[in-house]
Amino acid sequence: MAGLTNAPILILKEGHKRETGKDAQRKNIMAAKAVAEAVKTTLGPKGMDKMLVDGTGDVVITNDGATILREMDIEHPVAKMIVEVSRAQEDEVGDGTTTAVVIAGGLLENAEELINIGVHPTVIVQGYKAVQKKAYEFLEEMAVTVSTEDRDILKKIAETAMTGKGIEVFKDKLAEICVDAASAIEEDGKVDVEERVNFVKIGSGSVKDTELEQGVVLDKERLNPDMPKKVEGARIVLLDSTLELKKLSTDAKVTISSPESLSSFREGEDEVLKEKVDAMAKVGANVVFCKQGIGAYASRYLANFGIIAARRVSDEDMKFLALATGGKIVTDPLEMSEEDLGSAELVREKKIGKEKKMIFVEGCHGAKAVTVVIHGSSEQLRDNIERALEDALWSVGTVLESKKIVPGGGAPEIEVAEKLRQYASTMSGRDQLAVKAFADAVEEIPLNLAENAGFDSIDVLVNLRSSHGAGKKSYGLDMNTGKPADMMAQGVVEPLRVKTQAIKSGTAAATLVLRVDDVIAAKVEGLRPKPGQSPHDYTRRPMMPPMM
Ligand code: ADP
Ligand code: MG
Repeated sequence: MAGLTNAPILILKEGHKRETGKDAQRKNIMAAKAVAEAVKTTLGPKGMDKMLVDGTGDVVITNDGATILREMDIEHPVAKMIVEVSRAQEDEVGDGTTTAVVIAGGLLENAEELINIGVHPTVIVQGYKAVQKKAYEFLEEMAVTVSTEDRDILKKIAETAMTGKGIEVFKDKLAEICVDAASAIEEDGKVDVEERVNFVKIGSGSVKDTELEQGVVLDKERLNPDMPKKVEGARIVLLDSTLELKKLSTDAKVTISSPESLSSFREGEDEVLKEKVDAMAKVGANVVFCKQGIGAYASRYLANFGIIAARRVSDEDMKFLALATGGKIVTDPLEMSEEDLGSAELVREKKIGKEKKMIFVEGCHGAKAVTVVIHGSSEQLRDNIERALEDALWSVGTVLESKKIVPGGGAPEIEVAEKLRQYASTMSGRDQLAVKAFADAVEEIPLNLAENAGFDSIDVLVNLRSSHGAGKKSYGLDMNTGKPADMMAQGVVEPLRVKTQAIKSGTAAATLVLRVDDVIAAKVEGLRPKPGQSPHDYTRRPMMPPMM
Protein backbone atom coordinates (compact mmCIF):
# COMPACT_ATOMS: atom_id res chain seq x y z
CA MET A 1 0.00 0.00 0.00
CA ALA A 2 1.30 3.39 -0.94
CA GLY A 3 2.17 5.72 1.92
CA LEU A 4 -0.31 8.38 2.94
CA THR A 5 0.56 11.82 1.73
CA ASN A 6 0.07 14.99 3.71
CA ALA A 7 -2.26 16.47 1.13
CA PRO A 8 -5.28 18.16 2.79
CA ILE A 9 -8.58 16.37 2.48
CA LEU A 10 -11.18 18.52 0.79
CA ILE A 11 -14.75 18.05 1.97
CA LEU A 12 -16.27 20.95 0.10
CA LYS A 13 -16.24 21.53 -3.62
CA GLU A 14 -13.45 23.66 -4.89
CA GLY A 15 -14.33 27.34 -4.93
CA HIS A 16 -16.66 27.12 -1.98
CA LYS A 17 -15.87 29.45 0.80
CA ARG A 18 -16.06 28.59 4.39
CA GLU A 19 -15.30 30.69 7.39
CA THR A 20 -14.45 29.05 10.65
CA GLY A 21 -13.47 29.78 14.21
CA LYS A 22 -12.63 33.31 15.22
CA ASP A 23 -13.06 34.65 11.73
CA ALA A 24 -16.63 33.48 11.50
CA GLN A 25 -17.39 34.63 15.02
CA ARG A 26 -15.91 38.05 14.52
CA LYS A 27 -17.88 38.67 11.36
CA ASN A 28 -21.10 37.39 12.88
CA ILE A 29 -20.68 39.59 15.91
CA MET A 30 -19.95 42.55 13.67
CA ALA A 31 -23.15 41.98 11.73
CA ALA A 32 -25.23 41.67 14.87
CA LYS A 33 -23.67 44.77 16.36
CA ALA A 34 -24.43 46.67 13.19
CA VAL A 35 -28.13 45.98 13.68
CA ALA A 36 -27.97 47.18 17.27
CA GLU A 37 -26.08 50.30 16.15
CA ALA A 38 -28.80 51.05 13.64
CA VAL A 39 -31.57 51.19 16.21
CA LYS A 40 -29.90 52.38 19.37
CA THR A 41 -30.12 56.07 18.54
CA THR A 42 -33.91 55.70 18.55
CA LEU A 43 -34.09 54.48 22.14
CA GLY A 44 -36.11 56.44 24.64
CA PRO A 45 -38.17 59.62 24.72
CA LYS A 46 -35.43 61.69 23.11
CA GLY A 47 -34.54 59.07 20.51
CA MET A 48 -33.91 60.11 16.93
CA ASP A 49 -36.09 59.12 13.99
CA LYS A 50 -35.16 56.97 11.03
CA MET A 51 -36.31 57.66 7.53
CA LEU A 52 -36.94 54.52 5.55
CA VAL A 53 -37.25 54.88 1.82
CA ASP A 54 -38.40 51.93 -0.25
CA GLY A 55 -37.77 51.15 -3.91
CA THR A 56 -40.83 53.07 -5.03
CA GLY A 57 -39.82 56.16 -3.07
CA ASP A 58 -42.37 55.66 -0.30
CA VAL A 59 -41.10 57.11 2.93
CA VAL A 60 -41.69 56.00 6.48
CA ILE A 61 -40.38 58.16 9.30
CA THR A 62 -40.41 56.43 12.64
CA ASN A 63 -38.41 55.75 15.75
CA ASP A 64 -40.17 52.53 16.52
CA GLY A 65 -37.45 49.88 16.66
CA ALA A 66 -39.74 47.06 15.59
CA THR A 67 -40.89 48.96 12.51
CA ILE A 68 -37.37 49.94 11.52
CA LEU A 69 -36.13 46.37 11.73
CA ARG A 70 -39.15 45.07 9.87
CA GLU A 71 -38.73 47.54 7.03
CA MET A 72 -34.95 47.36 6.68
CA ASP A 73 -33.86 45.27 3.76
CA ILE A 74 -31.43 43.09 5.65
CA GLU A 75 -29.28 40.54 3.85
CA HIS A 76 -26.82 39.15 6.31
CA PRO A 77 -27.99 35.88 7.90
CA VAL A 78 -26.82 36.81 11.39
CA ALA A 79 -28.33 40.28 11.18
CA LYS A 80 -31.55 38.54 10.22
CA MET A 81 -31.35 36.39 13.32
CA ILE A 82 -31.28 39.55 15.41
CA VAL A 83 -34.31 40.88 13.57
CA GLU A 84 -36.17 37.63 14.24
CA VAL A 85 -35.42 38.02 17.93
CA SER A 86 -36.82 41.51 17.91
CA ARG A 87 -39.99 40.03 16.42
CA ALA A 88 -40.15 37.54 19.23
CA GLN A 89 -40.01 40.45 21.67
CA GLU A 90 -42.80 42.18 19.78
CA ASP A 91 -44.93 39.03 19.65
CA GLU A 92 -44.50 38.33 23.35
CA VAL A 93 -45.01 41.74 24.90
CA GLY A 94 -45.41 44.26 22.07
CA ASP A 95 -42.86 46.71 23.44
CA GLY A 96 -39.18 46.84 24.37
CA THR A 97 -37.90 45.83 20.95
CA THR A 98 -35.14 48.39 20.78
CA THR A 99 -34.14 47.54 24.32
CA ALA A 100 -33.83 43.84 23.45
CA VAL A 101 -31.68 44.53 20.40
CA VAL A 102 -29.45 46.99 22.23
CA ILE A 103 -28.89 44.46 25.01
CA ALA A 104 -28.06 41.78 22.42
CA GLY A 105 -25.55 44.16 20.82
CA GLY A 106 -23.99 44.91 24.20
CA LEU A 107 -23.74 41.24 25.14
CA LEU A 108 -22.00 40.47 21.86
CA GLU A 109 -19.63 43.40 22.02
CA ASN A 110 -18.54 42.39 25.51
CA ALA A 111 -18.31 38.74 24.50
CA GLU A 112 -15.96 39.71 21.71
CA GLU A 113 -13.58 41.24 24.22
CA LEU A 114 -13.68 38.06 26.27
CA ILE A 115 -13.02 35.93 23.20
CA ASN A 116 -10.05 38.13 22.40
CA ILE A 117 -8.49 37.41 25.78
CA GLY A 118 -8.98 33.69 25.26
CA VAL A 119 -12.31 32.86 26.90
CA HIS A 120 -14.10 30.16 24.94
CA PRO A 121 -17.49 31.18 23.51
CA THR A 122 -19.14 28.15 25.11
CA VAL A 123 -18.05 29.37 28.50
CA ILE A 124 -19.48 32.80 27.74
CA VAL A 125 -22.76 31.30 26.54
CA GLN A 126 -23.11 29.24 29.71
CA GLY A 127 -22.20 32.23 31.81
CA TYR A 128 -24.75 34.49 30.09
CA LYS A 129 -27.51 31.95 30.53
CA ALA A 130 -26.80 31.56 34.22
CA VAL A 131 -26.63 35.32 34.75
CA GLN A 132 -29.89 35.83 32.91
CA LYS A 133 -31.74 33.94 35.64
CA LYS A 134 -30.14 36.13 38.28
CA ALA A 135 -31.19 39.22 36.34
CA TYR A 136 -34.84 38.09 36.45
CA GLU A 137 -34.55 37.63 40.19
CA PHE A 138 -33.27 41.16 40.65
CA LEU A 139 -36.00 42.57 38.43
CA GLU A 140 -38.66 40.65 40.38
CA GLU A 141 -37.25 42.04 43.60
CA MET A 142 -37.71 45.62 42.49
CA ALA A 143 -41.14 45.11 40.91
CA VAL A 144 -44.24 46.60 42.49
CA THR A 145 -47.62 44.89 42.41
CA VAL A 146 -50.44 47.18 41.31
CA SER A 147 -54.19 46.95 41.33
CA THR A 148 -55.80 46.60 37.92
CA GLU A 149 -58.44 49.03 39.17
CA ASP A 150 -55.82 51.75 39.44
CA ARG A 151 -56.52 53.74 36.29
CA ASP A 152 -53.85 56.30 37.06
CA ILE A 153 -51.08 53.73 37.05
CA LEU A 154 -52.43 52.09 33.90
CA LYS A 155 -52.48 55.47 32.20
CA LYS A 156 -48.88 56.09 33.21
CA ILE A 157 -47.94 52.71 31.76
CA ALA A 158 -49.57 53.71 28.48
CA GLU A 159 -47.93 57.13 28.49
CA THR A 160 -44.46 55.74 29.11
CA ALA A 161 -44.87 53.27 26.26
CA MET A 162 -45.98 56.09 23.94
CA THR A 163 -43.25 58.54 24.92
CA GLY A 164 -40.96 59.65 22.16
CA LYS A 165 -43.19 58.60 19.30
CA GLY A 166 -43.92 62.13 18.19
CA ILE A 167 -47.44 62.28 19.60
CA GLU A 168 -46.70 63.88 22.97
CA VAL A 169 -49.50 66.44 22.68
CA PHE A 170 -52.22 63.82 22.46
CA LYS A 171 -50.75 61.52 25.08
CA ASP A 172 -53.43 62.05 27.68
CA LYS A 173 -56.35 61.28 25.41
CA LEU A 174 -54.63 58.32 23.76
CA ALA A 175 -53.63 56.86 27.12
CA GLU A 176 -57.30 57.01 28.21
CA ILE A 177 -58.26 55.12 25.09
CA CYS A 178 -55.63 52.46 25.75
CA VAL A 179 -56.79 51.86 29.30
CA ASP A 180 -60.44 51.65 28.22
CA ALA A 181 -59.64 49.37 25.29
CA ALA A 182 -57.38 46.99 27.19
CA SER A 183 -59.87 46.75 30.06
CA ALA A 184 -62.73 46.15 27.64
CA ILE A 185 -61.11 43.18 25.92
CA GLU A 186 -59.85 41.48 29.07
CA GLU A 187 -61.27 38.02 29.46
CA ASP A 188 -60.26 35.40 32.03
CA GLY A 189 -57.22 37.47 32.93
CA LYS A 190 -55.96 37.58 29.32
CA VAL A 191 -55.69 40.64 27.13
CA ASP A 192 -55.24 39.69 23.48
CA VAL A 193 -54.46 42.96 21.73
CA GLU A 194 -53.43 41.27 18.50
CA GLU A 195 -56.75 39.49 18.06
CA ARG A 196 -59.21 41.80 19.64
CA VAL A 197 -58.27 45.33 18.77
CA ASN A 198 -58.78 46.71 15.31
CA PHE A 199 -57.56 50.05 14.04
CA VAL A 200 -59.40 52.15 11.47
CA LYS A 201 -57.58 55.22 10.20
CA ILE A 202 -59.43 58.22 8.82
CA GLY A 203 -58.04 61.23 7.02
CA SER A 204 -60.65 63.66 8.27
CA GLY A 205 -60.80 65.46 11.59
CA SER A 206 -57.95 65.85 14.02
CA VAL A 207 -56.20 63.46 16.38
CA LYS A 208 -58.45 64.77 19.15
CA ASP A 209 -61.38 63.03 17.48
CA THR A 210 -59.73 59.63 17.81
CA GLU A 211 -62.08 57.38 19.70
CA LEU A 212 -62.78 53.93 20.94
CA GLU A 213 -65.74 51.90 19.76
CA GLN A 214 -66.91 48.82 21.60
CA GLY A 215 -67.34 46.65 18.57
CA VAL A 216 -66.41 46.71 14.92
CA VAL A 217 -66.14 49.73 12.67
CA LEU A 218 -66.08 49.19 8.94
CA ASP A 219 -64.81 51.80 6.55
CA LYS A 220 -67.88 51.11 4.38
CA GLU A 221 -71.21 52.67 3.59
CA ARG A 222 -74.48 50.82 3.28
CA LEU A 223 -74.88 49.65 -0.24
CA ASN A 224 -78.20 51.16 -1.10
CA PRO A 225 -79.99 54.29 0.18
CA ASP A 226 -83.17 52.26 0.47
CA MET A 227 -81.57 50.09 3.09
CA PRO A 228 -82.27 51.09 6.70
CA LYS A 229 -79.65 53.27 8.40
CA LYS A 230 -79.73 51.12 11.46
CA VAL A 231 -81.04 47.86 12.76
CA GLU A 232 -81.39 46.87 16.37
CA GLY A 233 -80.96 43.27 17.43
CA ALA A 234 -78.71 42.67 14.46
CA ARG A 235 -78.52 39.17 13.00
CA ILE A 236 -75.55 39.15 10.74
CA VAL A 237 -74.57 37.05 7.74
CA LEU A 238 -70.85 36.94 6.96
CA LEU A 239 -70.79 35.89 3.36
CA ASP A 240 -67.82 34.79 1.33
CA SER A 241 -69.37 34.41 -2.11
CA THR A 242 -70.66 36.76 -4.71
CA LEU A 243 -74.14 38.22 -5.03
CA GLU A 244 -73.46 39.59 -8.47
CA LEU A 245 -74.65 38.49 -11.86
CA LYS A 246 -71.99 36.65 -13.76
CA LYS A 247 -70.34 38.96 -16.23
CA LEU A 248 -71.08 37.99 -19.81
CA SER A 249 -67.66 37.99 -21.30
CA THR A 250 -66.80 36.76 -24.77
CA ASP A 251 -65.67 33.41 -23.48
CA ALA A 252 -68.82 32.84 -21.46
CA LYS A 253 -70.10 29.34 -21.90
CA VAL A 254 -73.63 30.27 -22.87
CA THR A 255 -74.57 31.06 -26.40
CA ILE A 256 -77.34 33.55 -26.72
CA SER A 257 -79.10 33.72 -30.00
CA SER A 258 -81.75 36.39 -29.50
CA PRO A 259 -82.47 39.37 -27.22
CA GLU A 260 -85.27 37.38 -25.61
CA SER A 261 -83.02 34.55 -24.63
CA LEU A 262 -80.54 37.03 -23.14
CA SER A 263 -83.21 38.41 -20.87
CA SER A 264 -84.44 34.95 -19.94
CA PHE A 265 -80.87 33.98 -19.18
CA ARG A 266 -80.58 37.02 -16.95
CA GLU A 267 -83.83 36.14 -15.28
CA GLY A 268 -82.46 32.70 -14.59
CA GLU A 269 -79.49 34.25 -12.90
CA ASP A 270 -81.69 36.73 -11.04
CA GLU A 271 -83.59 33.75 -9.78
CA VAL A 272 -80.44 32.28 -8.26
CA LEU A 273 -79.58 35.56 -6.53
CA LYS A 274 -83.16 35.88 -5.32
CA GLU A 275 -83.01 32.41 -3.82
CA LYS A 276 -79.84 33.28 -1.99
CA VAL A 277 -81.27 36.48 -0.52
CA ASP A 278 -84.50 34.66 0.37
CA ALA A 279 -82.50 32.03 2.20
CA MET A 280 -80.70 34.67 4.25
CA ALA A 281 -83.93 36.48 5.07
CA LYS A 282 -85.50 33.17 6.04
CA VAL A 283 -82.95 32.46 8.77
CA GLY A 284 -83.71 35.93 10.11
CA ALA A 285 -80.76 37.95 8.84
CA ASN A 286 -81.04 41.73 8.85
CA VAL A 287 -77.40 42.53 8.08
CA VAL A 288 -75.20 41.09 5.33
CA PHE A 289 -71.45 41.68 5.15
CA CYS A 290 -70.15 40.28 1.91
CA LYS A 291 -66.50 39.70 1.12
CA GLN A 292 -67.20 39.79 -2.59
CA GLY A 293 -69.45 41.85 -4.83
CA ILE A 294 -73.16 42.52 -4.51
CA GLY A 295 -74.82 43.56 -7.75
CA ALA A 296 -77.56 46.14 -8.20
CA TYR A 297 -80.27 43.52 -8.41
CA ALA A 298 -79.30 41.74 -5.19
CA SER A 299 -78.79 45.08 -3.49
CA ARG A 300 -82.35 46.17 -4.30
CA TYR A 301 -83.72 42.85 -3.23
CA LEU A 302 -81.83 42.97 0.07
CA ALA A 303 -83.17 46.49 0.64
CA ASN A 304 -86.72 45.15 0.12
CA PHE A 305 -86.19 42.89 3.09
CA GLY A 306 -84.94 45.82 5.20
CA ILE A 307 -81.46 44.30 5.30
CA ILE A 308 -78.36 46.49 5.64
CA ALA A 309 -75.58 45.23 3.42
CA ALA A 310 -72.01 46.14 2.60
CA ARG A 311 -69.83 44.56 -0.03
CA ARG A 312 -66.12 43.92 -0.60
CA VAL A 313 -65.41 43.74 3.11
CA SER A 314 -61.74 42.90 3.59
CA ASP A 315 -60.58 39.50 4.70
CA GLU A 316 -59.27 40.93 7.95
CA ASP A 317 -62.51 42.72 8.70
CA MET A 318 -64.48 39.55 7.97
CA LYS A 319 -62.37 37.61 10.46
CA PHE A 320 -62.69 40.34 13.04
CA LEU A 321 -66.47 40.44 12.50
CA ALA A 322 -66.63 36.69 12.97
CA LEU A 323 -64.74 36.98 16.24
CA ALA A 324 -66.74 39.92 17.52
CA THR A 325 -70.23 38.82 16.50
CA GLY A 326 -69.76 35.09 16.94
CA GLY A 327 -70.92 34.53 13.36
CA LYS A 328 -69.52 31.99 10.93
CA ILE A 329 -68.24 32.94 7.52
CA VAL A 330 -70.50 31.11 5.06
CA THR A 331 -70.06 30.49 1.37
CA ASP A 332 -73.47 29.22 0.40
CA PRO A 333 -76.48 31.06 1.81
CA LEU A 334 -78.71 28.20 0.69
CA GLU A 335 -77.00 25.95 3.17
CA MET A 336 -76.71 28.29 6.09
CA SER A 337 -78.63 27.98 9.30
CA GLU A 338 -79.56 30.29 12.09
CA GLU A 339 -76.50 29.23 14.09
CA ASP A 340 -74.21 30.71 11.47
CA LEU A 341 -75.53 34.20 12.11
CA GLY A 342 -73.52 36.67 14.14
CA SER A 343 -75.24 39.02 16.54
CA ALA A 344 -74.90 42.57 17.79
CA GLU A 345 -77.16 44.94 19.64
CA LEU A 346 -76.97 47.55 16.94
CA VAL A 347 -75.64 47.96 13.42
CA ARG A 348 -75.81 51.43 12.01
CA GLU A 349 -74.31 53.76 9.48
CA LYS A 350 -72.84 56.81 11.15
CA LYS A 351 -71.52 60.06 9.80
CA ILE A 352 -67.87 60.70 10.62
CA GLY A 353 -66.67 64.24 10.12
CA LYS A 354 -68.26 66.15 7.25
CA GLU A 355 -68.69 63.67 4.47
CA LYS A 356 -67.51 60.27 5.58
CA LYS A 357 -69.86 57.50 6.57
CA MET A 358 -69.00 54.26 8.27
CA ILE A 359 -70.78 51.20 9.50
CA PHE A 360 -70.65 50.55 13.24
CA VAL A 361 -71.38 47.15 14.70
CA GLU A 362 -71.99 47.77 18.39
CA GLY A 363 -72.78 45.71 21.46
CA CYS A 364 -71.27 42.47 20.24
CA HIS A 365 -71.83 39.48 22.43
CA GLY A 366 -69.70 37.05 20.46
CA ALA A 367 -66.46 38.17 21.98
CA LYS A 368 -64.89 41.20 23.51
CA ALA A 369 -63.54 43.20 20.61
CA VAL A 370 -62.96 46.89 20.15
CA THR A 371 -62.01 49.25 17.36
CA VAL A 372 -59.95 52.38 17.68
CA VAL A 373 -60.93 54.94 15.07
CA ILE A 374 -57.81 57.03 14.51
CA HIS A 375 -58.21 60.50 13.06
CA GLY A 376 -55.32 62.57 11.79
CA SER A 377 -54.50 64.79 8.87
CA SER A 378 -51.50 62.95 7.43
CA GLU A 379 -50.83 59.31 6.82
CA GLN A 380 -47.51 59.56 8.67
CA LEU A 381 -49.25 60.90 11.73
CA ARG A 382 -51.97 58.26 11.66
CA ASP A 383 -49.39 55.49 11.28
CA ASN A 384 -47.34 56.84 14.16
CA ILE A 385 -50.43 57.01 16.32
CA GLU A 386 -51.33 53.44 15.46
CA ARG A 387 -47.83 52.22 16.36
CA ALA A 388 -47.79 54.17 19.60
CA LEU A 389 -51.24 52.91 20.53
CA GLU A 390 -50.22 49.36 19.81
CA ASP A 391 -47.18 49.55 22.08
CA ALA A 392 -49.21 51.21 24.80
CA LEU A 393 -52.14 48.81 24.52
CA TRP A 394 -49.83 45.85 24.81
CA SER A 395 -48.15 47.36 27.84
CA VAL A 396 -51.43 48.10 29.61
CA GLY A 397 -52.61 44.60 28.70
CA THR A 398 -49.44 43.09 30.12
CA VAL A 399 -49.99 44.90 33.41
CA LEU A 400 -53.64 43.84 33.53
CA GLU A 401 -52.44 40.26 33.08
CA SER A 402 -49.44 40.17 35.37
CA LYS A 403 -50.03 43.19 37.64
CA LYS A 404 -46.34 43.88 38.11
CA ILE A 405 -44.56 47.07 37.14
CA VAL A 406 -41.07 48.50 37.41
CA PRO A 407 -39.83 52.07 37.16
CA GLY A 408 -38.46 53.03 33.72
CA GLY A 409 -35.80 55.52 32.64
CA GLY A 410 -32.98 53.00 33.01
CA ALA A 411 -33.72 52.32 36.70
CA PRO A 412 -34.21 48.56 36.35
CA GLU A 413 -31.12 48.19 34.19
CA ILE A 414 -28.91 50.08 36.65
CA GLU A 415 -30.34 48.08 39.54
CA VAL A 416 -29.75 44.76 37.77
CA ALA A 417 -26.23 45.75 36.76
CA GLU A 418 -25.32 46.85 40.29
CA LYS A 419 -26.72 43.68 41.83
CA LEU A 420 -24.94 41.54 39.24
CA ARG A 421 -21.63 43.19 40.04
CA GLN A 422 -22.14 42.49 43.73
CA TYR A 423 -23.00 38.92 42.83
CA ALA A 424 -19.88 38.65 40.68
CA SER A 425 -17.71 39.69 43.58
CA THR A 426 -18.68 36.47 45.36
CA MET A 427 -17.31 34.39 42.47
CA SER A 428 -13.89 33.21 41.52
CA GLY A 429 -11.87 35.21 38.99
CA ARG A 430 -12.78 33.67 35.65
CA ASP A 431 -16.44 33.09 36.44
CA GLN A 432 -16.84 36.77 37.14
CA LEU A 433 -16.06 37.70 33.57
CA ALA A 434 -19.37 36.78 31.96
CA VAL A 435 -21.34 38.28 34.86
CA LYS A 436 -19.56 41.59 34.53
CA ALA A 437 -19.91 41.54 30.77
CA PHE A 438 -23.64 40.98 31.21
CA ALA A 439 -23.94 43.84 33.71
CA ASP A 440 -22.19 46.21 31.33
CA ALA A 441 -24.45 45.12 28.46
CA VAL A 442 -27.62 45.81 30.43
CA GLU A 443 -26.30 49.24 31.31
CA GLU A 444 -26.27 50.09 27.63
CA ILE A 445 -29.92 51.07 28.14
CA PRO A 446 -29.46 54.03 30.53
CA LEU A 447 -26.28 54.86 28.66
CA ASN A 448 -28.12 55.21 25.36
CA LEU A 449 -31.09 56.97 26.94
CA ALA A 450 -28.59 59.56 28.18
CA GLU A 451 -26.65 59.78 24.96
CA ASN A 452 -29.76 60.20 22.84
CA ALA A 453 -30.88 63.06 25.03
CA GLY A 454 -27.50 64.76 24.66
CA PHE A 455 -26.31 64.15 28.22
CA ASP A 456 -22.84 63.00 29.22
CA SER A 457 -23.41 59.28 29.49
CA ILE A 458 -20.50 58.63 31.84
CA ASP A 459 -21.74 61.25 34.32
CA VAL A 460 -25.24 59.84 34.09
CA LEU A 461 -24.05 56.29 34.78
CA VAL A 462 -21.92 57.34 37.72
CA ASN A 463 -24.76 59.32 39.28
CA LEU A 464 -27.32 56.60 38.74
CA ARG A 465 -25.03 53.95 40.16
CA SER A 466 -24.47 55.98 43.26
CA SER A 467 -28.22 56.54 43.74
CA HIS A 468 -28.79 52.81 43.48
CA GLY A 469 -25.83 52.15 45.75
CA ALA A 470 -27.66 54.28 48.31
CA GLY A 471 -30.73 52.07 47.97
CA LYS A 472 -32.77 54.35 45.69
CA LYS A 473 -33.99 51.52 43.49
CA SER A 474 -36.52 53.48 41.52
CA TYR A 475 -34.13 56.20 40.42
CA GLY A 476 -33.73 56.57 36.70
CA LEU A 477 -32.73 59.28 34.29
CA ASP A 478 -34.75 62.48 34.41
CA MET A 479 -34.94 63.41 30.77
CA ASN A 480 -35.19 67.12 31.48
CA THR A 481 -32.33 67.56 33.89
CA GLY A 482 -30.04 64.63 33.09
CA LYS A 483 -29.96 63.86 36.83
CA PRO A 484 -31.22 60.80 38.68
CA ALA A 485 -34.83 61.11 39.79
CA ASP A 486 -37.52 58.87 41.22
CA MET A 487 -39.22 57.38 38.18
CA MET A 488 -42.15 56.04 40.22
CA ALA A 489 -42.88 59.56 41.41
CA GLN A 490 -42.56 60.89 37.85
CA GLY A 491 -44.94 58.23 36.58
CA VAL A 492 -42.37 56.69 34.24
CA VAL A 493 -43.37 53.06 34.70
CA GLU A 494 -43.27 49.93 32.59
CA PRO A 495 -44.56 46.38 32.83
CA LEU A 496 -42.08 44.05 34.54
CA ARG A 497 -42.61 41.56 31.73
CA VAL A 498 -41.33 43.96 29.08
CA LYS A 499 -38.05 44.16 30.97
CA THR A 500 -37.67 40.44 31.65
CA GLN A 501 -38.60 39.62 28.08
CA ALA A 502 -36.08 42.15 26.72
CA ILE A 503 -33.32 40.41 28.67
CA LYS A 504 -34.62 37.04 27.53
CA SER A 505 -34.77 38.01 23.86
CA GLY A 506 -31.45 39.85 24.00
CA THR A 507 -29.67 36.92 25.62
CA ALA A 508 -31.27 34.46 23.21
CA ALA A 509 -30.01 36.47 20.26
CA ALA A 510 -26.51 36.89 21.62
CA THR A 511 -26.01 33.25 22.60
CA LEU A 512 -27.35 32.12 19.27
CA VAL A 513 -24.76 34.19 17.46
CA LEU A 514 -21.97 33.13 19.82
CA ARG A 515 -22.59 29.44 19.31
CA VAL A 516 -21.91 29.64 15.60
CA ASP A 517 -18.25 28.99 14.81
CA ASP A 518 -18.52 27.90 11.25
CA VAL A 519 -20.26 29.52 8.32
CA ILE A 520 -20.45 27.02 5.48
CA ALA A 521 -22.14 27.49 2.15
CA ALA A 522 -25.17 25.23 2.13
CA LYS A 523 -26.04 22.92 -0.74
CA VAL A 524 -29.60 24.08 -1.26
CA GLU A 525 -30.02 25.89 -4.57
CA GLY A 526 -30.36 29.60 -4.15
CA LEU A 527 -28.53 29.56 -0.86
CA ARG A 528 -25.19 28.88 -2.48
CA PRO A 529 -23.00 31.94 -2.73
CA LYS A 530 -21.92 33.03 -6.15
CA PRO A 531 -18.30 32.33 -7.12
CA GLY A 532 -16.02 34.56 -5.13
CA GLN A 533 -18.78 35.53 -2.73
CA SER A 534 -18.22 35.01 0.95
CA PRO A 535 -20.71 32.78 2.75
CA HIS A 536 -21.50 35.89 4.74
CA ASP A 537 -23.08 37.42 1.70
CA TYR A 538 -25.75 34.92 0.96
CA THR A 539 -29.28 35.19 2.16
CA ARG A 540 -31.03 32.66 4.18
CA ARG A 541 -34.06 32.97 6.37
CA PRO A 542 -32.76 32.22 9.83
CA MET A 543 -34.43 29.79 12.14
CA MET A 544 -36.18 31.22 15.14
CA PRO A 545 -33.84 30.94 18.05
CA PRO A 546 -35.05 28.80 20.89
CA MET A 547 -36.34 30.92 23.72
CA MET A 548 -34.80 30.12 27.05
P1 ADP B 1 -38.29 50.13 23.12
O1 ADP B 1 -38.46 49.76 21.69
O2 ADP B 1 -37.24 49.31 23.79
O3 ADP B 1 -39.56 50.17 23.89
P2 ADP B 1 -38.33 53.02 23.34
O4 ADP B 1 -37.77 53.94 22.33
O5 ADP B 1 -39.79 52.91 23.45
O6 ADP B 1 -37.68 51.60 23.10
O7 ADP B 1 -37.71 53.46 24.74
C1 ADP B 1 -38.00 52.80 25.91
C2 ADP B 1 -37.15 53.35 27.05
O8 ADP B 1 -37.44 54.73 27.28
C3 ADP B 1 -37.44 52.62 28.34
O9 ADP B 1 -36.23 52.31 28.99
C4 ADP B 1 -38.24 53.63 29.13
O10 ADP B 1 -38.13 53.46 30.52
C5 ADP B 1 -37.66 54.94 28.67
N1 ADP B 1 -38.57 56.07 28.89
C6 ADP B 1 -39.79 56.26 28.36
N2 ADP B 1 -40.33 57.41 28.80
C7 ADP B 1 -39.43 57.98 29.63
C8 ADP B 1 -39.39 59.19 30.38
N3 ADP B 1 -40.40 60.05 30.38
N4 ADP B 1 -38.28 59.45 31.12
C9 ADP B 1 -37.25 58.58 31.11
N5 ADP B 1 -37.22 57.43 30.42
C10 ADP B 1 -38.29 57.12 29.68
MG1 MG C 1 -41.22 51.38 23.65
